[in-house]
Amino acid sequence: MSQQRPGLSTLCIHAGSGGDVHGSPQLPIYNSTTFRFAATADLLDVIEGRKAGSLYTRYGLNPTIQALEEKLAALEGAAAASVFASGMAAASALFLTHGRQGIVCIGDAYGGTLELLTSQLPALGIDTRFLLGHELGRLDDLLAMGPRLVFLETPTNPTLEILDIAAIAAAAHRHRALLAIDNTFATPVNQNPLMLGADIVMHSATKYLGGHSDLVAGALMGSRELLAPVAVWRKNLGQTPAPETAALLSRSLCTLVVRVERQNATAQKLAEAMARHPSVARVYYPGLPEFPGHALAQRQMQGFGGMLTIETHGGGEAARRVADRLELFSLAPSLGGVESLITQPCTTSHHDLTPEERARRNISDAMLRLSVGLEDAEDLIADLNWALRL
Ligand SMILES: *Cc1c(COP(=O)(O)O)cnc(C)c1O
Repeated sequence: MSQQRPGLSTLCIHAGSGGDVHGSPQLPIYNSTTFRFAATADLLDVIEGRKAGSLYTRYGLNPTIQALEEKLAALEGAAAASVFASGMAAASALFLTHGRQGIVCIGDAYGGTLELLTSQLPALGIDTRFLLGHELGRLDDLLAMGPRLVFLETPTNPTLEILDIAAIAAAAHRHRALLAIDNTFATPVNQNPLMLGADIVMHSATKYLGGHSDLVAGALMGSRELLAPVAVWRKNLGQTPAPETAALLSRSLCTLVVRVERQNATAQKLAEAMARHPSVARVYYPGLPEFPGHALAQRQMQGFGGMLTIETHGGGEAARRVADRLELFSLAPSLGGVESLITQPCTTSHHDLTPEERARRNISDAMLRLSVGLEDAEDLIADLNWALRL
């Protein structure tokens, strides 16, 4: 084969799949919890890290899990990856490994992540600070206080604010801090944080990577140096996924690029249709030229994603009626699957915030967040038009 680096679609199918002794093109499921050795010397080689090998599944030293990690690392252009039993398992291992000297969280973050950062980690004595996107002018001052980890999501949930990864990476590195990005919304198809200067990428693989709303998993990608200590926390907190989940995720990744490219295209059509709709006050979608983050998204993303948010006229009650009327869009609090989903953030992801805190984050009761699936765009638009009728 030629020396050129394979493209993402090729990596989705072939990375990490070369090792099966029986020639199975799909990743075999090794449910074994333990693996036997011919001699003590061989066992010590694996335990002491001189040789790669399988040993004990909770350690992640299982052929199904290791092959999946090879694929996950390749997708983000990373040297290493660790797969977890959930996105929150990945986030908590990240924070416990690299955030003990303080964490700065920029912009809006997933509810579970915010709960960890606002109450659980501080209870362990970990200092956590928060900056919204428009407060980035204070980042240098906060970093001068010594935190070693900056964490953010972009695009954010649910306003799809775009944060400048390269600029924030430069600021973090000036202060010898690491930058970790939750790349769940964008996926490696649309955004490659490591190429933009970030140090670690996190995913809730429950969303687009799994893509079918039928598995829960998470991942971290980065250098071997940064991920080796993460694997120790994963091992002793018992956060490794079951091999069956790992194989299902590996299978799902084969179609990641075709799914996400179609979701990007459909979301763009829906965003344009909603921008023209008389019952819609505002559309939040990075692919619309009038969206505030559009130019930055064009610079740092390869695609604008399958998530969009609309704000209806008539406030929270009107939005709720729309959500309840839709038929193709299911009212369900997740995203990234083949089926289209809708949520009203003030009743789901941001339900636990006070109305003042939601207002500070520009989250109104009239907002509806759409996760665009793989149905025909025309049918989804018809469903929305029907539900939005005055
Ligand atoms: C869902 C989600 C998480 C948490 O992932 P789980 O797999 O549910 O633990 C973290 N970040 C983002 C952006 C998410 O959407």
